[in-house]
Amino acid sequence: MANVGGRLVSMNPRTGTPLGEVELMTPEQVAAEVQSAQEAFPRWAALPIAERKAMLYRVRDFVLAHADEIAQVVHDEQGKPFAEVMSADILPVVEICNYYAPRLGSLLKDEPIPMHIFKGIKSSRLVPKPLGVVAVITPWNFPFSIPMSGILFALMTGNTVVFKPASEVPFIGKMIARCILEGGGVPSDVFHLVLASGRSVGNTLCRPPIRKVVFTGSTEVGKFIQKQCAEYLIPTVQELGGKDPMIVLEDADLEMTVKGALWGAFANCGQICASVERCYVMRPLYDEFVKRVVEEASKLRLGVPPLDDYDIGPLVNESQRAVVEAHVADAVAKGAKILLGGKRPEGASGFFFEPTIMVNVNHDMLAMRDETFGPLLPIMPVDSEEEAIRLANDSPYGLTASVWSRNRARAEKVALQLDAGTVTVNDHAYSYALVETPWQGMKESGLGASHSILGVREFYFPQHINVDLMPRLRRRMWWYPYGPQPFALMKELIGALSRSAGLPGFAAKLLTRPEWRKILLG
Ligand code: NAD
Repeated sequence: MANVGGRLVSMNPRTGTPLGEVELMTPEQVAAEVQSAQEAFPRWAALPIAERKAMLYRVRDFVLAHADEIAQVVHDEQGKPFAEVMSADILPVVEICNYYAPRLGSLLKDEPIPMHIFKGIKSSRLVPKPLGVVAVITPWNFPFSIPMSGILFALMTGNTVVFKPASEVPFIGKMIARCILEGGGVPSDVFHLVLASGRSVGNTLCRPPIRKVVFTGSTEVGKFIQKQCAEYLIPTVQELGGKDPMIVLEDADLEMTVKGALWGAFANCGQICASVERCYVMRPLYDEFVKRVVEEASKLRLGVPPLDDYDIGPLVNESQRAVVEAHVADAVAKGAKILLGGKRPEGASGFFFEPTIMVNVNHDMLAMRDETFGPLLPIMPVDSEEEAIRLANDSPYGLTASVWSRNRARAEKVALQLDAGTVTVNDHAYSYALVETPWQGMKESGLGASHSILGVREFYFPQHINVDLMPRLRRRMWWYPYGPQPFALMKELIGALSRSAGLPGFAAKLLTRPEWRKILLG
C-alpha cells in the first residue's frame, strides 16, 4: 500500500508487487457522501422491516453466488489461505443474514415497560429508533467479514452507512460495495464506500451528521477516534487490539491442545486481534507441550509463491513484519530462546516471516506485553492456576482468552477469573463466526459489542414513549400551584407506596376527598 499523488497503490503481500491503483477521496468528497447518506436516512429508516429482511437475503445469495470471486480478491489483496477466507470471511457474513433476517422483526419491536406506581394510569415503552448515518471504519485483517458485519447490522436496523475500508485493501472494499449495492439492491445514497486515508478523513467521519462510529482497528487509533467523537458526544463501538492468553492446565488433552495452539497463534499469519499471543502451560505438561508444538509447527507450509495451497500466508506489509522482527529481537536480547523460525524465509519477495516459537520468555519483553500481530508463539511455564490467571490478567488488553483442560468445571472456574470479553474453553478465537454471540473487549480492547442482541442494540436509540391513560385526571399532583396541601399529600403518597395497598388504594382514597377530587378531575 502506498499513497502516490492522491492514488492508492494496493499491493499483493505474497509477491510484494502492486495489484492496482484506486483514486483517493478528499475530505470534501467524503463530507459530500456523508451528506447524501444523511438525506437518505429518513426514507431508509421508514422502510418496513420486511424489506430490510429481504435485503439481507439478497446479500446472502449474492455472496454465495460470488464466493469464489470474493475469495480470490481477499486472497490476492490480503494473502490469507483460501480455506481461511471461507471460514473466517465468508461464513460469518452468510450466517449474519441467515440468523438475523428471520429474527429482525422480534429484535426491533417495541419493548413495553411494566409500570410500577402508575400502573393503569400511564404507559411506557421503548421504541428502537435508528440513529442516522453510521460510519463503519475497518481494518485489513478480516477485510470482508468485519466490514460486512458492521454494514449489515447498521443497514438492517434502519441506518445509512458511510464505509471506510483499510487503505491496504481497497479492492476488497469495492467488492463489498458490489455485495451491498448490486447484490442487496441497497440504494446508492443509503450506502457509501469512501476510499481514503484514515488520517485525512478521520475527522470528517467523527463529527455530525455522523451519529455513530463503528470502529475496528488498533487501540491507538481507537482512542484517537474516541477523543474526536467526544467533542460532539458521538457514541462509538470500539473493537480494538489484544494480547490474548492461552492457559493450558496439566489435565489438558495434549494433542488437541497442541493443534489448538498452532491454529490460535498462526491462523491468518497471527494477524487476528484474538490470536494466541501468550501461552501459559502448567509445569507438568510444559516440556512435552513445547516439544509437540515445535514438531507440529515445523510441518506448517508458508504460502511463498508459486505454492497456492498453504497454511500460513504473509504479513500484510513491511511495517507489520518490522513489528514482529522487533519483538523477536527484543525478546532474544532479554534472554528468550527461539526453538523454531525467528526469521524471514529465504528467497521470498513477499512479506513472509516463519512461524516462530519462543521460550524463556517473561513479561519484561515486548512480545509478552505489546500486540505483536504476527506468527509468534511465546510459551511460559506456570506452577499454579493462580499464577496463570495473574499473568494472563497482567495486560492492558482484555479481548479473548482460552483455557484448556479435560475438567470442564475447573476450566470454567479459571475462565471466570480472566479479564477478557470472551473466554473459550478448549478452543480459541473462533467465536467471531458464532454471530448469535457477542464479540467484545474489556479494558483497552474495546467498548461496546458486535453481534448478538448486544450488537443489535448498538445501532438504535431506545426512545422512551410515555403516554397518559387517564384523560379524566386533568391535574397532576406534582404540578403548580405548590403549597401546604400538595406537600402533605405527596408525603402521604410516598408513605402509601411503601405499604401493600400501594397506589391504587391511595388513589381511591384521594378521590373520596372533595377538594382533591375537584382539583384532579377539574
Ligand atoms: P488501524 O487502527 O491502523 O486502522 C484501522 C482503520 O482505521 C483503517 O481503516 C485505517 O485507515 C483507519 N484509520 C487510521 N487512522 C485513522 C484516523 N485518524 N481516523 C479514522 N480512521 C483512521 O488498524 P489495522 O492495522 O488496520 O488493523 C490491525 C489492528 O486492528 C490490530 O490492533 C487488531 O488487533 C485490531 N483488530 C481488532 C479487532 C477486534 O474485533 N477487536 C478485529 C480486527 C482487528
